[in-house]
Amino acid sequence: MGKLLSMINWRRCIYMESAEMIDSFGWKHWKSITQPTDYANLQIEIVDVWHFVMSLVLEGGIYRENETHEQMATWMMATEGYKLLSSTTTPVFASDEALMLKIETIMRRSLEPAVNGDLEKMVDDFFRLSVMGALNLDELYRLYVGKNILNQFRQDHGYKEGSYIKIWNGMEDNAVMKRGWEENPDMSPKELYEELSKAYPV
Ligand code: MG
Ligand code: MG
Repeated sequence: MGKLLSMINWRRCIYMESAEMIDSFGWKHWKSITQPTDYANLQIEIVDVWHFVMSLVLEGGIYRENETHEQMATWMMATEGYKLLSSTTTPVFASDEALMLKIETIMRRSLEPAVNGDLEKMVDDFFRLSVMGALNLDELYRLYVGKNILNQFRQDHGYKEGSYIKIWNGMEDNAVMKRGWEENPDMSPKELYEELSKAYPV
């Protein structure tokens, strides 16, 4: 347990998931430069990064000791990025180049030493990226809950042991979750879990 905890590094999680985000684009000039952008995957990776940005913010004692959840929410909601996100109703995708540059800004922030104010900047950039990735506040929340449930489902079905099946009848589990959510936006987390159980090919 001690080893596990000391190995967890939220900042590393953020830049590695950001790298997965970049893989949504055909960025490899020697291989896939003409490949169309996988925008659905980009949105999933945005939500993956959100899990770890939140973990970083929530981790007590490293950033601001004894900060309450209310205080965290207050400064996050005071960022310009949040204001932009919460006032956006029908966002559209920014250009691929602009998206990649913003993702790289977040990676850079995750690699910078923790100094006062750096998490505000990271959170601000994260919310801006969400808008650029055509998410509004509602959709970010919905996908976050959806991915969280899927993560739980994966853990319950052998993800760590390696027996988990990631492609369900030709579709990646992430995409199955996203489609389920889009078809039925009023599902509860419990209902989503049941949907996933029904769709899982075992
Ligand atoms: Mg990953
Ligand atoms: Mg990911």
